[in-house]
Amino acid sequence: MSEKLPVIVAGGGIGGLAAALALVRRGFKVLVLEQAAEIGEIGAGIQLGPNAFHAFDALGVGEKARGRAVYTDYMVMHDALDEYEVGKIPTGEAFIKRFGNPYAVIHRVDVHLSLLEGAQETGEVEFHTSTHVERVEQDDAGVTVICSGGKSFRGAALIGADGVRSVVRDQYVGDPARVTGHVVYRAVVDKADFPTDLQWNAASIWVGPNCHLVHYPLRGGEQYNVVVTFHSRGKEEWGVTEGSPEEVQSYFQDICPKARQLIDLPKSWKRWATADREPIGQWSFGRVTLLGDAAHPTTQYMAQGACMALEDAVTLGEALRVHDNDFAKAFDLYQRSRIARTARIVLSSREMGRIYHAKGVERLVRNDLWRGRSAERFYDAMEWLYGWNVDNCLARN
Ligand SMILES: Cc1cc2nc3c(=O)[nH]c(=O)nc-3n(C[C@H](O)[C@H](O)[C@H](O)COP(=O)(O)OP(=O)(O)OC[C@H]3O[C@@H](n4cnc5c(N)ncnc54)[C@H](O)[C@@H]3O)c2cc1C
Repeated sequence: MSEKLPVIVAGGGIGGLAAALALVRRGFKVLVLEQAAEIGEIGAGIQLGPNAFHAFDALGVGEKARGRAVYTDYMVMHDALDEYEVGKIPTGEAFIKRFGNPYAVIHRVDVHLSLLEGAQETGEVEFHTSTHVERVEQDDAGVTVICSGGKSFRGAALIGADGVRSVVRDQYVGDPARVTGHVVYRAVVDKADFPTDLQWNAASIWVGPNCHLVHYPLRGGEQYNVVVTFHSRGKEEWGVTEGSPEEVQSYFQDICPKARQLIDLPKSWKRWATADREPIGQWSFGRVTLLGDAAHPTTQYMAQGACMALEDAVTLGEALRVHDNDFAKAFDLYQRSRIARTARIVLSSREMGRIYHAKGVERLVRNDLWRGRSAERFYDAMEWLYGWNVDNCLARN
């Protein structure tokens, strides 16, 4: 009987839409409940590893996403004090051959749109916007999701894909956020306004004491994404606000002029005070499970949060397939398949932040870490991350 009910997804972000697609592929009708007035994304870029493209393919939207991405020639890290090249990893033909898919940079809106179009084309996903999930009740036959304004929805199960401040996680886990004190400013700049000496077809990072700067092309090179991060002098609270050019200017006094150009460019910035949470050992609670940032909120230093949300969705679909749509068994297999991998991202990301922001002798160690390393050795080190695909996504025990 419960299979006749739709599955409910809380949140219409990248994770929620990917989950909706995975569920439709398992034969379910899906209700997506989104608090915003429209289903959409913020205007910023995102990096996608080959694992994300494996996930897009498994969700049936690989071609849509590929058509909107920019394929980089390499990733490069420079020391922001003296322009020293700390590491460079080619992401051209050899990389694609090794991992079966490209490394790409893309506008978040274009990732989201690819998933949204895919979901709409199925005709099996119903969207309810301006619908804020408040809590969920469950019984033997299904779940009742209660939203603000007294609305409620009945479903066979609930996927909590409601992001870093997940209400669903709060109800079942209730753990605190770990505010980092690291602040991120993001902006998208037109090519005409972007310095010609930085117009590289690469995911580029400048690493400096207590700060770093990232830039890469978007939309066929017509735009550039600019992201700068610094350790705040003040006490931060987790959240997104409008940025102030004066504030960001005040943090990058010591870095080299070439990198410093980046902070002078944007006319307006968005400001993120970032946080993550300690990884947890349980995401599934009866007919409810968590997905994406709701399950494993992370700092952004591995550039993998959205990639992990896409992987989660594919793995959820596979777990349902293996267990013939039995939610309890599938949700258990799903969490067993995902917890260690996503915790590795959260923990590695914290470590990567330390490496990026090294100063003094630690900076010298950082600059020596990858000296003379061949592309093949870099690829070997990335195998655990980029070697993920639909065929190896499920836990074997
Ligand atoms: C600065 C920065 C850079 C990043 N760069 C990268 C990168 O390069 N590569 C990468 O892979 N990832 C990156 N990420 C991470 C990535 O953005 C996230 O991991 C990803 O967007 C998570 O998707 P999600 O769907 O789980 O959550 P979200 O995108 O947050 O979506 C959650 C959705 O749920 C809705 N919602 C929330 N609460 C409720 C509620 N109670 N009821 C109904 N709806 C609700 C929200 O409105 C939203 O639409 C970056 C993140 C940051 C902050």
